[in-house]
Amino acid sequence: MAKQPMLKFVDVARDMPVKRSAQERSHDFDEIYAEYADAKAAEQASRCSQCGVPYCQSHCPLHNNIPDWLQMTAMGRLKEAYELSQATNTFPEICGRICPQDRLCEGNCVIEQSGHGTVTIGAVEKYITDTAWERGWVEEIVPRAERGESVGVIGAGPGGLAAADVLRRAGVQVTVYDRHDRAGGLMTYGIPGFKLEKDVVMRRVEQLERAGVKFVLNCNVGEDISFQAIRGQHDAVLVATGVYKTRDLGGPGAGAAGIVPALDYLTASNRIGFGDEVEEFDNGTLNAKGKKVVVIGGGDTAMDCVRTAIRQGATSVKCLYRRDRANMPGSQREVANAEEEGVKFVWLSNPKGFTGDPVTGVKVQKMRLGEPDATGRQSPEPIEGSDYTEDADLVIKALGFEPEDLPALWGEDALPVTRWGTVLAEFNSGATSLPDVYAAGDIVRGASLVVWAIRDGRDAANAMLKAFDEQGAQVAAE
Ligand code: FAD
Ligand code: SF4
Ligand code: SF4
Repeated sequence: MAKQPMLKFVDVARDMPVKRSAQERSHDFDEIYAEYADAKAAEQASRCSQCGVPYCQSHCPLHNNIPDWLQMTAMGRLKEAYELSQATNTFPEICGRICPQDRLCEGNCVIEQSGHGTVTIGAVEKYITDTAWERGWVEEIVPRAERGESVGVIGAGPGGLAAADVLRRAGVQVTVYDRHDRAGGLMTYGIPGFKLEKDVVMRRVEQLERAGVKFVLNCNVGEDISFQAIRGQHDAVLVATGVYKTRDLGGPGAGAAGIVPALDYLTASNRIGFGDEVEEFDNGTLNAKGKKVVVIGGGDTAMDCVRTAIRQGATSVKCLYRRDRANMPGSQREVANAEEEGVKFVWLSNPKGFTGDPVTGVKVQKMRLGEPDATGRQSPEPIEGSDYTEDADLVIKALGFEPEDLPALWGEDALPVTRWGTVLAEFNSGATSLPDVYAAGDIVRGASLVVWAIRDGRDAANAMLKAFDEQGAQVAAE
């Protein structure tokens, strides 16, 4: 009988790829995890119990065929593992790196629930596609046959790029517009290199370019070209512009120099990584070197800021969050990484105001957790008389993002938006009530995840293809 390659979770312990020591990694922007060696990937994949109803798969936004590609990896049939993996995911190596797996696939793995430690799904997914790139298995995108329809995609983030990929494979003429000088959206200018090295993103952009996707960069839709002009030039339009309006801080002194938005700070750091000249980095405005840094917020953006500040050589880095560790929105894995690298978390702390201009400190109000609100989450309440000042000469605001007012910016009142300002689009197709206008990613969901943007982009592209085919059939019948 053939040797059973799977179900090894009782004998084989969970083992992540080697993580570089905090001492070593906190001086550079390279990724912190090494790649699995072939044997280790096969061993870790073999831990999967091949569930009949795989909860990992149902909790993956792309419904990746996880048990099957784990089995192929365990059997050393890596090329087949790659074929399966890329069939449902446009950028598996990116998701393998940056999905919050503890909340998605791995958090729902049954062997995790039974106390054996989850299968390392993300690390195996990354390994499979990195290996495919290395061994030349990632093929060029070749359209099945050229089609006459053209689509304008506004926004070159994961939502827009995933849609461009599906459309171009089907032969559609695709033009992607973006206001930045490089494509990739937040994968390029938001997420730091220590989570996602930039050549991994650029390699995908170049693959799309070689396939004939046209990129019009440095093009702010609403300023450099109107939304109406884009609609006039294409048969359908995808709005995938993400969410960029920074939630602001109030309180006395909030306008002082030295208090900066998280995305400006992270973008500057990523640009330096690309070798760009960044004046605000060089003049110290967006550079933490030699500074006492306080980051305000408890989400993933805040985690990226504190860890960037450590790498830039800050003298101290503190993160203020108004709830406690158990109630923070950021990934616990990222908090642990930040702590290892020397970040101090000041839980249950709310900024009340700021001293100095340029800033010299944050006035902190201590909080406690009160009764649960309607959502079941405990609301933070101030503790009277507990104020103190936290020294700071760089304060980074990482309180989240909201959508820009697209109907106003684009002079298009008919673009339907929700009361939160996100674009109102149909679930599963991204279709809006404006004819031939679709939307995908954060601009529909609010600040979310790369994997959801990919899912939306793919769904919208498939809905467009269906609509083109239906329109074609109608014309033929007339
Ligand atoms: P974006 O990636 O935001 O792309 C939108 C693009 O549209 C941008 O390139 C922008 O320049 C362009 N654009 C906007 N308006 C216009 C206009 N008027 N004209 C032309 N172009 C325009 N998610 C994860 O899954 N894992 C993580 O670890 C993670 N870390 C994150 C860290 C940070 C700091 C941030 C801010 C987000 C993080 N996210 C993470 C969230 C993730 O990056 C987003 O959910 C995802 O990028 C959304 O994709 P998108 O395509 O909808 O939009
Ligand atoms: Fe898990 Fe994300 Fe990969 Fe899905 S795409 S299997 S959620 S890492
Ligand atoms: Fe394998 Fe875990 Fe998915 Fe079950 S839930 S199929 S054990 S990865």
